[in-house]
Amino acid sequence: MIARVTFQWMLALVVSVSVSLPGPARAEVPSRQMPVVAPLYAPILMYHHIGAPRAGRFSVTPAKFAEQLNWLRDQGYRSVSIDDIASAAQGGPPLPPKPIAITFDDGWRDQYDIALPLLKEFGFKATFFVVSGWVGRGRTLMTWAELRDLRARGHWVGSHSVTHGAAAKQTDKVVAYEVIQSRNTISRELGGPPTIFAYPLGSIDARAEALARAAGYVAAVDVQANPIQRASQLYRLKRIEVRGTYSLGNLASWLIAGKDGVLPVPRSPWWQTLRRSFPGSPPLAGARGGPHGFCRGRDAPWRDCVAGCPTA
Ligand SMILES: [Zn+2]
Repeated sequence: MIARVTFQWMLALVVSVSVSLPGPARAEVPSRQMPVVAPLYAPILMYHHIGAPRAGRFSVTPAKFAEQLNWLRDQGYRSVSIDDIASAAQGGPPLPPKPIAITFDDGWRDQYDIALPLLKEFGFKATFFVVSGWVGRGRTLMTWAELRDLRARGHWVGSHSVTHGAAAKQTDKVVAYEVIQSRNTISRELGGPPTIFAYPLGSIDARAEALARAAGYVAAVDVQANPIQRASQLYRLKRIEVRGTYSLGNLASWLIAGKDGVLPVPRSPWWQTLRRSFPGSPPLAGARGGPHGFCRGRDAPWRDCVAGCPTA
């Protein structure tokens, strides 16, 4: 009975959302009423496993993770939530000069066992995106009790769907189920609804965006190596994937320039300091320059890349 009522309500939501999906023309209309807010420098990092490099690019070793947190702390980065970013992007309270949102996907147990103590050691908070249907299933995944503990320690828990299906391959009903049911389950288990949604597999389309908005999420995150956020893209906030193969220089380059090499804060004192702190860094990983195309096709050292090829 309950299942049927939930399903019917979900269908009603899908119908109401499907008739109001934002089209290209509609997206331009609200700009007259919306406050004009400049693009915001607010990098969001995405991690999966912290542990032995058995999961390929998805595993960052504890030593590397500690090195990255240490560097972020030394550079003056301070943790913010994605709610903070969404608010600031719309003209709300400003973020600290060097904000950083650290996120983890899928709810793996090593995030609790290994990442959590390191986050505490270096003074950072993080957002954990969990797959509601996976929580507590087997030794490699976190339990609801552990997620409640994370929240009690000041971290945030977001939704990463019910089954981890790719939105682009699902029907409207299934996308609605993934977005809404995961929110309901997390809300019931943790005593409050998650406010941020992370699209599984980086699979995103207009339906998923509209459903995330309609379901009550404040914002949603995509995967894109760019530190600049915009109010018009609250349901596609960019996240920088931190791969196990990345050097500290790679991470720094994403935080400074993003994949397009566009400097987020032109020549500010902290940027100059950051740049000077990596003299002679090796070329970015990848055969032709950057792992996501930053300075693609050029073999310049990192410092020259940043200085010399912003439109590569
Ligand atoms: Zn995932």
